[in-house]
Amino acid sequence: MKEHVVQLLAQRGVSLDEIADLVLEVHRDDIPGLTLEECRESVERVLGKREAQYAIMTGIALDTIAEQGGLPPGLEEAVFSDSPLFGIDEVLALAITTLYGSAGLIGFGYLDKAKPGVLQRINGGGDGRVHTFLDDLLAAVAAAAGARLIHKHLGSPEGVDNNNENGGAGKDAGGNGP
Ligand code: MG
Repeated sequence: MKEHVVQLLAQRGVSLDEIADLVLEVHRDDIPGLTLEECRESVERVLGKREAQYAIMTGIALDTIAEQGGLPPGLEEAVFSDSPLFGIDEVLALAITTLYGSAGLIGFGYLDKAKPGVLQRINGGGDGRVHTFLDDLLAAVAAAAGARLIHKHLGSPEGVDNNNENGGAGKDAGGNGP
């Protein structure tokens, strides 16, 4: 299923390297020696988790249906215009953001506000598509991948994948963000 999700992201114009760039942007100062390759590997770990896969598939499905005019009245306007009162895109993304504990919340908050890189690009609307859910999902994947790296580098490296890859935040959850 991970390959399917990577393919879905590619169909929406997003590469894993662009998500890895977001991770590097958030953590280059607080994780010395962090490389793009390591960020990308962490993104792949997040995308390997079932919760992330279902959240991404759900959000992209809703974006796509909104594009095609297939959502019911009321919902369609909210998703199509990315209304600030909607907020369900952020709520769905939370399923991913906190996969590695509360450290992900800090990274998500930064990315949501600063909108660097791919987030800026897809928010511009230049491709004529709806990315109301996708922008939050990408920020969430990057934030979770960053939280995983925080635990790996600044917490207990042996615990990060054993405790956290299986869905829980693990005993080392709650490290500091950027
Ligand atoms: Mg959004």
